[in-house]
Amino acid sequence: MSDSPAAPDAAEGPPTAPPPGRAPAAYLAALNPAQREAVEATEGPVLVLAGAGTGKTRVLTTRFAHLLMTGRAAPNQVLAVTFTNKAAREMKERIARLIGRPVEGLWLGTFHALSARLLRRHAALAGLAPNFTILDTDDQLRLVKQVAEAANLDTRRWTPQGLLAVIETWKNRGLGPDEVGAADATDFAAGRALALYRDYQARLRALNAADFGDLLLHALAIFRTNAEVLGLYQRAFRYILVDEYQDTNVAQYLWLRLLAQRHRNICCVGDDDQSIYSWRGAEVGNILRFEHDFPGARVIRLECNYRSTPHILAAASGLIAHNQGRLGKTLWTEDGEGEKVRLRGLWDGEEEARFVCDEVEALQGRGERLGAMAVLVRAGFQMRAFEERLLTLGIPYRVLGGPRFYERQEVRDAIAYLRVVANPSHDLSFERIVNVPKRGIGEATVKSLHELARARGVPVFEAARDLVATDELRAKARVALKALIDDFDRWRSLAGGLAHPELARTVLEESGYTAMWQADRSPDAPGRLENLKELVAAMEEFENLEGFLEHVSLVMENDQAEDGERLNLMTLHAAKGLEFDTVFLPGWEEGLFPHQRALDEGGLKSLEEERRLAHVGITRARRRVVVSFAANRRVYSTWQSNLPSRFVDELPAEHVERESEPGLYGAGSAATDLEEGAARLRAPRFGGQARLIEAEAWTVETHARPAGTFAVGGRVFHQKFGYGRVVSTDGAALEIEFEKAGRKKVIDRFVEPA
Ligand code: ATP
Ligand code: MG
Repeated sequence: MSDSPAAPDAAEGPPTAPPPGRAPAAYLAALNPAQREAVEATEGPVLVLAGAGTGKTRVLTTRFAHLLMTGRAAPNQVLAVTFTNKAAREMKERIARLIGRPVEGLWLGTFHALSARLLRRHAALAGLAPNFTILDTDDQLRLVKQVAEAANLDTRRWTPQGLLAVIETWKNRGLGPDEVGAADATDFAAGRALALYRDYQARLRALNAADFGDLLLHALAIFRTNAEVLGLYQRAFRYILVDEYQDTNVAQYLWLRLLAQRHRNICCVGDDDQSIYSWRGAEVGNILRFEHDFPGARVIRLECNYRSTPHILAAASGLIAHNQGRLGKTLWTEDGEGEKVRLRGLWDGEEEARFVCDEVEALQGRGERLGAMAVLVRAGFQMRAFEERLLTLGIPYRVLGGPRFYERQEVRDAIAYLRVVANPSHDLSFERIVNVPKRGIGEATVKSLHELARARGVPVFEAARDLVATDELRAKARVALKALIDDFDRWRSLAGGLAHPELARTVLEESGYTAMWQADRSPDAPGRLENLKELVAAMEEFENLEGFLEHVSLVMENDQAEDGERLNLMTLHAAKGLEFDTVFLPGWEEGLFPHQRALDEGGLKSLEEERRLAHVGITRARRRVVVSFAANRRVYSTWQSNLPSRFVDELPAEHVERESEPGLYGAGSAATDLEEGAARLRAPRFGGQARLIEAEAWTVETHARPAGTFAVGGRVFHQKFGYGRVVSTDGAALEIEFEKAGRKKVIDRFVEPA
C-alpha cells in the first residue's frame, strides 16, 4: 500500500469490466422486488429503512457485488462501512461468493478501521507520523490523568475518568478543541474542561499517538481543512454503503456526508427500532435526517421478513409497539406458523442456567446444531452461571464480543488477590495486582523484587517483605509496598473468622480495587462492578476459598478449541445483525432488563432503548425464542427478589406460551406475586437453609406502587417482617427495628404505615 497522499489505491485505474460469462440476473433473482430496487438504484442517495430480518444486509452485500459485476466500480472504488470487524469479514466472504472469486483491496470495515487506514496515509496533516500508535483505554486514562495533574486539577473532585468521558462526548460529536462552542460547553472542572481537552490533544500529538475517537476526528479534520485530500477521496469512492446506519454518531455522520458529497451515491440501511448505542453517542436522528441532507433521496422500505416465523415476528412487533418515539412499520412473513415464544419463570439464576442448558441438550438430541443456538444476555455478569453449567455438562460454547467470564480483566484481578491471600507464594498473581489499582509501585520496583526473589529462591511476596525493611526502594514505593503486605497479612488473619465471600468483598474493598472501577467513568465500568459482585456471589456455592479457587483453575483450563460446533453466548448489544435458529433470552426481570441503571440515568428515553434491545434480541431468532426470568438472584451474599420484566407482559399473549407456575408472573397482580414469592422464599429450599429468609435486601420492584414517606419513629408494617418502628431513612432505604425480626434494612415500597 502506498502512503503517498497523491496515490490512494481507490484512485487507481478505471473500473474493471464485468467478468464474462455470468449473468447479473443470477444474484438479482435471489431478491424480492423491493430489495432488487434497492440494489439497482445505484445512482443517487438511497435510504433503506426497514425492520429486522428484511434483508438490509443482504441488499448491501448484493449491491456491492452488483457494482462490481456491472463494471460501475472497481473493488477499491466502493467504501463499505460495517458495524463490527466480524460483519466486515462476513460481508467480504459473501461478496466473494456472489461474484465467484476472492477480492482484495476492498475499503470494507468499521468506521474506526477505515479511518485508521486513511489516517496512516495522511498522518502528517494531523501532526502525526505514519507509524502513530493507537492508544488503548488504559493508556488513554493514564494520559488524561497526567494532563489533569499537570494542570493542578483537583482530581478527587473532577476525576480523570469524568474528564475523559467529556472529551469522548465531544469527539463523538466531531468536535476538536477548536470547534467546541458555547453550546457544547460543560460545567465539568469549573469550565476548564476545554483547556484540558486542548492539552490532552497536544500530549497525544507529542507522543505520536491517537486514541480511538481521534481516528475519526483527525480524518474529519483533514477532510475539512484540506480540500485536495478530500477531493481525492470524494472522487475515488464512487459508491458508499453503510450498514446499521441507525447507530452512527455525529462524527461518523459528518465523515460520511463529506465523502459522499461529490458522487452522492450513498446507500444507507438501518432500522430505527434497532438503535441501541445511544450510550456511546449514536444518534438515531441521523436516519431521520437523511432525506433532508440528501435532497431527492430515495427511501425504500422492505416489509417482508425472511428470518423469523410469524409468532416470533408478531411477538417482537407487539413489544416494540410500546415505544412511542419510532417511525413505525409493518412486517410480514411468508413462513409457516412455527412455535410460539416460550416464556419460563424460574426460581433463581442457577436454576435458569440449568433449564436453558437442558433445553440446549434436548435440542441437540433432536439434531439441532449447537452453532445455530445462542444465549443473549443483558449484562455480562449473567454469563457466569451459563458458562459453569455448560462446562459441567461438557457443552462446547464460545463467547462472542468479549472474553469468557473468568477471563475478564476484573475477574482475573479479583482472583489474583484471592490467590495471594490463600497462597503468598503465588508469584504471578502477586505481580498482577501489586500495582492494581495504581499505588506507585512501578516497573523498577517489580524488577528489584524479581531479582531478589530469584537470588534468594523465595516467593516474590517474601522478597517484598524483605525489601521494604531496607532502603533499596524509593520512599513512595516502599511505603506503598509495605502497606500492601500489611493488608495481605491482615486479610489472611481474617480468613479464619470470616465467611469466604465476605472475605473476598473485604479484600476488594480494602485494596481499593472496587473503588478503582467505581471511579471509572468509562461505559464498561458498571458492568465490571457487576461482574465482581457476581464473582463474590458465585463463591457461596463453595465450602471455602480454596475450593473456589480450585474450581476456577479447572474452569480456566477448559480451553476453547477454536473450531467445531459451539453454543453462542453474548450480550444483546453484541448480537446486532446476527441470526440463529434458536435464541434464549434469560434474565427478563425488572432491574436487570430493563436495566435499573439505564432507567435511573435516562428515564423514558432509556426505557425505550432497553425495549429496542429486547426487540433486537427476539428478532435474532429464526425459529425458536425462549424467554426466561428468575424470581431470585444473589447479590453479594444476600438474595434479591425480582419481578418479571415489564417486557414480559408486553409480549402479545396470543404469541406466547407461558410454561411455569402462574405465581411467578407479573400479569398485573404484583401483590399476589409478592405473597407467593415470599411464601416460596420461606419454604425450605436448598436443604432447608434458613439463610434465604435472612435476606436483608428484599428489593422487589413493582411498577405501580408509589413509595410512601416515612418518619423516624413511625410504626410500620412489612409483608415479611411484620410490625416495627423506623429507626432511620436513607432515600428509599429504611432501617427498621422489627418487633419480631429485629433490625433490618428494607425498601420503602414494601412498608406500609401501621
Ligand atoms: P437485521 O436488521 O437484523 O440486521 P437485515 O435486514 O440485515 O436484518 P439480513 O440479515 O440481510 O436482514 O437477512 C435476514 C435473513 O433473511 C438472512 O438469512 C438472509 O439471507 C435472508 N434473506 C434476505 N432476503 C432474502 C430473500 N429475498 N430471499 C430469501 N432469503 C432472504
Ligand atoms: Mg443486517
